[in-house]
Amino acid sequence: MPEGKNRAVVLGASMAGLLTAAVLSRTYDSVTLVERDVLPTSPAHRRGVPQSRHTHALLASGVRQLEEFLPGLADEAVAAGAHQGDLLGNIRWIINGHRLRRMDIGQPMLFCGRHLLEDLVRTRVRALPGVEFADGRDVIELTATADRRRVTGVRVGAQGAEDQALTADLVVDTTGRASRMPRWLTDLGYEPAPVERMAVDVGYSTRRYRFPEGFLGEDRLVLLGWTPDNPRAAGMVALEDGTHFVTLAGLLGDHPPTDPDEFTDFAETLQFPDVIDAMRAGEPLDDPVAFRYPANVRHHYEQVRDFPDGLLVLGDAVCAFNPLYGQGMTSAALQAAALGRVLADGGKPDWRTYFKAAAAAVNDAWDITTASDLVFPGVPGKRTPRVRVINAYLARLHAAAETDPSLSEAFVRVTGLIAPPQSLLRPDRAVKVLLHGGRSVGPGPRTGVPTPEKVRP
Ligand SMILES: Cc1cc2nc3c(=O)[nH]c(=O)nc-3n(C[C@H](O)[C@H](O)[C@H](O)COP(=O)(O)OP(=O)(O)OC[C@H]3O[C@@H](n4cnc5c(N)ncnc54)[C@H](O)[C@@H]3O)c2cc1C
Repeated sequence: MPEGKNRAVVLGASMAGLLTAAVLSRTYDSVTLVERDVLPTSPAHRRGVPQSRHTHALLASGVRQLEEFLPGLADEAVAAGAHQGDLLGNIRWIINGHRLRRMDIGQPMLFCGRHLLEDLVRTRVRALPGVEFADGRDVIELTATADRRRVTGVRVGAQGAEDQALTADLVVDTTGRASRMPRWLTDLGYEPAPVERMAVDVGYSTRRYRFPEGFLGEDRLVLLGWTPDNPRAAGMVALEDGTHFVTLAGLLGDHPPTDPDEFTDFAETLQFPDVIDAMRAGEPLDDPVAFRYPANVRHHYEQVRDFPDGLLVLGDAVCAFNPLYGQGMTSAALQAAALGRVLADGGKPDWRTYFKAAAAAVNDAWDITTASDLVFPGVPGKRTPRVRVINAYLARLHAAAETDPSLSEAFVRVTGLIAPPQSLLRPDRAVKVLLHGGRSVGPGPRTGVPTPEKVRP
């Protein structure tokens, strides 16, 4: 391992770790990514990222950010089979019981399996100057100076080998939802960050299908959201090999089953027929696999009063969202960009400045997720007057967006994290929403092949 004076160690080499390494490689002589899994050298599922077996969407802001970190990545993804498309033109959005009106809005998106995307990013990061991987190694604990004011590295273990100490000027924890940082901080004599937790008890079940050629028209992703009346949702994404993931989801313990027949029964109960129609027309290629997601969790590191120098946290280890809103990878990218700005400003990152910047980068995503989940009476949490008003307004906006593509566009830009939530309240939009009255024009075309004439304005 290089022993550069200016050395960073990143814990975890999933999406947050890889993007962090890309940013750190600009200012650190060496960056070592420590990863528990032995990393594959081609697109493959792995134990530490079980979510790759489920529909993953990279939000529009994430696409932009990845391209900024690793220019040319989108082209490489397309060359590897990923599909390109437009945020509104090629995604079938059925939100809150309303089929949003469609048009191209010039926001490029990428659609593929999560394992392909991670492989492409990993390959690019591996080639960056000073970056190396220490995979097949488990992070055991942090090491620190005698007074515990500064983290000096980590101790790592590998099967059949002695534990090893890695020294570092900076350690960044990107070990995800199960990060042991609260425990490590306690061991060093620090208070863990205050945690906000919203129990949503989401279940996912995913099966890969082959659909008849062109069955989904030009749609690369179908998003069928849940409603308070029917807390069941689904996503279907085009994969790089011409197949699709069909993911069914249920909130508050109403989990989709993994038995193939029951999986189909569950899809029958969705509010719109798009998913069951595609499943009936298609051929399943494997058995469903499940994932359970208990809660939205945010560690408020920006609120800690004391913290060791030389240590930062990023990605799901800071903030993990209900996966249905597809915000995790983009949120990691936005936090990595925040870290990049802090490094560009001052060289060595100060934890106070970084945690403040990272919190600002995830605030919108957190607000969107938690406000959306609070629509469900069974989700515990404080429904402030602001949240109630916003949710009532959004319900009307979704209804109005069935016929008004400018409102669809405004909504997907916010959901894609390229426009702030307050942009939905712009006076011209608010007038349209309030005048609309919330009436629905009905479920819209019943799929099969939705021709552009049917689904576009
Ligand atoms: C079912 C599901 C669906 C999702 N869908 C989407 C989506 O559509 N769009 C989206 O943007 N996001 C989605 N996400 C979230 C997204 O997967 C994550 O936000 C993203 O992977 C970034 O997470 P991360 O890198 O912080 O952590 P993770 O992806 O959890 O990775 C943590 C890494 O750390 C390693 N690790 C853990 N502990 C140790 C240790 N002690 N030592 C060494 N290594 C360790 C793990 O092996 C792993 O590689 C979804 C998540 C789930 C669960």
